[in-house]
Amino acid sequence: MTTYTVINPATEQPLTQVARSTVEDADAAIQRAARAQQRWRAVAPGDRARLLRRFADQVDAHVDELAALETAEAGHPVGAARWEAGQVRDVLMYYAAAPERLTGRQIPVPGGLDVTFREPVGVVGLIVPWNFPMPILSWGLGPALAAGCAVVAKPAELTPMTAVRIAELALDAGLPEGVFQVLPGQGSVVGQRLVDHPDVRKIAFTGSSEVGRHVMAGCARHVKRLTLELGGKSANIVFADADLQKAAATAPYAVFDNAGQDCCARSRILVEASVLETFMALLEPAVRGVLVGDPADAATEMGPLISAAHRAHVASYVPDDAPVAIRGSVPDGAGFWYPPTVLAPVSPDSPAYTEEIFGPVVTVTPFADEAAAIAMANDTPYGLSGSIWTSNVGRAIRVARAVETGNLSVNSHSSVRYWTPFGGFKQSGLGRELGPDAVDAFTEVKNVFIATD
Ligand code: NAP
Ligand code: MG
Repeated sequence: MTTYTVINPATEQPLTQVARSTVEDADAAIQRAARAQQRWRAVAPGDRARLLRRFADQVDAHVDELAALETAEAGHPVGAARWEAGQVRDVLMYYAAAPERLTGRQIPVPGGLDVTFREPVGVVGLIVPWNFPMPILSWGLGPALAAGCAVVAKPAELTPMTAVRIAELALDAGLPEGVFQVLPGQGSVVGQRLVDHPDVRKIAFTGSSEVGRHVMAGCARHVKRLTLELGGKSANIVFADADLQKAAATAPYAVFDNAGQDCCARSRILVEASVLETFMALLEPAVRGVLVGDPADAATEMGPLISAAHRAHVASYVPDDAPVAIRGSVPDGAGFWYPPTVLAPVSPDSPAYTEEIFGPVVTVTPFADEAAAIAMANDTPYGLSGSIWTSNVGRAIRVARAVETGNLSVNSHSSVRYWTPFGGFKQSGLGRELGPDAVDAFTEVKNVFIATD
């Protein structure tokens, strides 16, 4: 068995060796999952629920350990990493309530009884990116297990450690062998095999739009069920009548959180032209105030980027002649650091404005009026998140309805809440995760008619 080295992005030091799974490993795991799923779906709803609660309890008892792994392999500030581990626990606990509530309908028909069942789709392939390895794993895992599916998860190559540990905790909690397996390895090998294997009945993919399109095409061959959570280029729209102090103070965290490696990053700040200067003056101290440093330090707000290659990609959006308006600082020495960077003015056809950078780089662009703000916000193939800052309630609602995006916040930059639906419009995705309906995406509706005559 070959292995590869996982690197700490804050120190560039090796952390551990992880198995690089092969196509044969994937096939064996899928076969185990298919067998286990037959038993899992037959586990009584109350027992399945109890096992999921125990799984959540196991995660809860290991929050600090999981957070330390995330901090080490992904460079997330430890405070954020603890929140992420807590999110895994909460997602599992939330969907632990689903098995006994997986009800169907009884529909009036002549000559008999008509009922619907929600049957588990079967084996689910869960493909996870490196930016939020733990939460995104749980978003698929919780509802899939609750629905009676078995899960084979493929973590990102750069960040496999938390997924491997969470699978051990599942076994410790009493989940049957084979119900949840983790296959570290390459996307083009293991991920691709999950897409191609006919016994994997659904793919839940989170990652780039480019790989997402490829996964979608692969799923088409088997008409495989698919949810996609892809990239974003979201707008943070600041109107002149907003609480500018608050809008400016929070704007850096809406894009520099997780060093900008966030699909929901509000990476285009659109500001009503009449208050542009005031806003920039308020933004400057806020950007300089972002604490970038050792992710293991509880005070740290922003860590490094995930890899040297990714840092080079981010830096390519800020060439020497780029209009850098504000720039924060980074630690010296080892680590894939990149400073919080504000570009202004930026023309709407520059790559920094149109492409997902996935790093701590934000553009500021003025707009003339409400119609222009909406047009600019929508002038992108993406549609994942966004924020609207205004004290005018009518405008807040008008703009929220007009912006073509799945997750909006008004006068805040809310992060993902596991009990509300999450997903993208346009090329940001397909389907929704989380919230009250997420289990439906792991089931097929079956209609049964029973004659009474
Ligand atoms: P990525 O390159 O698309 O990779 C995502 C996952 O797909 C990884 O596990 C990767 O494995 C795997 N993969 C690669 N090639 C594959 C193939 N041919 N078949 C099946 N799987 C394959 O994305 P990333 O660079 O890790 O993550 C960043 C992207 O994710 C950004 O675009 C971001 O916006 C998006 N994202 C979206 C959301 C959302 O909810 N909408 C959330 C987080 C991130 P390897 O690691 O081995 O390449
Ligand atoms: Mg990638």
